[in-house]
Amino acid sequence: MKRYSAFSIIKNGLAGHKHWERAWRDPKPKKAYDVIIIGGGGHGLATAYYLAKNHGITNVAVLEKGWLGGGNAGRNTTIVRSNYFREGNTAFYEHSLKLWEGLSQDLNYNVMFSQRGHLNLYFTPAQRDALARRYNTMRLNGIDGDWLTRDQVRKMVPHLNYAEDARYEIMGGYLQKRAGTARHDAVNWGFARAASNLGVDIIQQCEVTDFITKAGRIVGVNTTKGEIRAEKVGMAVAGSTSLLAHKAGLGNLPIESHKLQAFVSEPLKPFLDTVVVYANGHGHFYISQSDKGGMVFGGNIDGYNSYAQKGNLPIYTDVASCAMNIMPALGRIKVLRQWAGIMDMSMDGSPFISKTKIPGLYLNAGWCYGGFKATPGSGWCFAHTIAHDAPHEINKLLTLDRFEAGIHIDESGHGPFPKAH
Ligand SMILES: Cc1cc2nc3c(=O)[nH]c(=O)nc-3n(C[C@H](O)[C@H](O)[C@H](O)COP(=O)(O)OP(=O)(O)OC[C@H]3O[C@@H](n4cnc5c(N)ncnc54)[C@H](O)[C@@H]3O)c2cc1C
Repeated sequence: MKRYSAFSIIKNGLAGHKHWERAWRDPKPKKAYDVIIIGGGGHGLATAYYLAKNHGITNVAVLEKGWLGGGNAGRNTTIVRSNYFREGNTAFYEHSLKLWEGLSQDLNYNVMFSQRGHLNLYFTPAQRDALARRYNTMRLNGIDGDWLTRDQVRKMVPHLNYAEDARYEIMGGYLQKRAGTARHDAVNWGFARAASNLGVDIIQQCEVTDFITKAGRIVGVNTTKGEIRAEKVGMAVAGSTSLLAHKAGLGNLPIESHKLQAFVSEPLKPFLDTVVVYANGHGHFYISQSDKGGMVFGGNIDGYNSYAQKGNLPIYTDVASCAMNIMPALGRIKVLRQWAGIMDMSMDGSPFISKTKIPGLYLNAGWCYGGFKATPGSGWCFAHTIAHDAPHEINKLLTLDRFEAGIHIDESGHGPFPKAH
């Protein structure tokens, strides 16, 4: 496929945009591949891309039961950051952020990565101290992070509620300048196009219904488009992880499926040029403004297990009141759209990029609220793990058996109570 360039835009513009090629091929599935990736979300597509690009493994199929990006990859609030605290997460998320920084050039596709900064507000001395610990740890690990006083926050985001009798009085904030947002559809389409260009078959409307094993080893999958064989199968199915894990014989994983909602308002003139967030005992809220002007925001998970991709009203009102706490001006805007995605909540809040006890079967899951930012890093590390049958140094702690060993990476997990996140 031809490269996108300024020249191709001008040429196709002059021709009435009638001659653009398909962004990716639409092949029929072959009988067998070297590697099958289940799940055509960002993580599955990124894995296929890096298998081909970094490891020369191009005989790969991505099997997606719906359409690309129809899962969480196309439903999230697009925040990208690397302000993690625990060993196991810090290096991984920073690696992912570095990949984001060159992703549009690498994929030859504008993923609209915008390093507009991520501002974490605090309202109490205890929150300040907890965040100081986190941001100091980041700096010791070579990750950028700045502490802002209340006046500095006010200068940066004048529309917040700085009243001294505000319900939550803003004391200051912590900023990661290199963090920001990206356009989720573009990320999925960019990885799909680049993977397809390298020879990966992307098969949509192809649900994996079961696994085929021989002598305890995975040798393929049954799908709604027939049997497809492969020596290696990687699962990247987010909210459907538990369902497929049972079919594969992995039993109960330390993962629960929960709904997380997102909200988008009517478009406004430029109003907010950074990502604003608060959490830790004062509710949970994050907001940014999209390039089309809509305010994009969200809060906590709905709090009970479900596979419905729509949210409940109590969380809707909870998120609205969180918004009003810090930005009363938002009370005058209309919410245009709302939806939910199914989160693969791990019990310690950290992910798995891992081999499994079944030879030939690999697991990518447990992303909780935070898998969008991980997309390139996750694909990069999962591809390495599949290609070498061993984790990379960066994901060596993100193993499934850490729960058996009792070595949890308790980033923000609340043990067996994900609803308490
Ligand atoms: C409302 C919301 C807001 C969020 N906000 C953020 C944020 O701001 N920042 C951030 O970093 N993260 C955020 N996240 C989390 C992030 O979106 C996810 O962690 C990430 O997108 C997961 O990507 P994925 O590719 O693993 O999953 P998905 O995109 O869900 O992909 C999994 C795919 O597997 C497919 N599948 C399932 N079962 C099968 C089967 N049997 N056969 C074939 N295909 C199958 C599904 O159809 C789906 O397309 C948010 C999530 C939601 C829902």
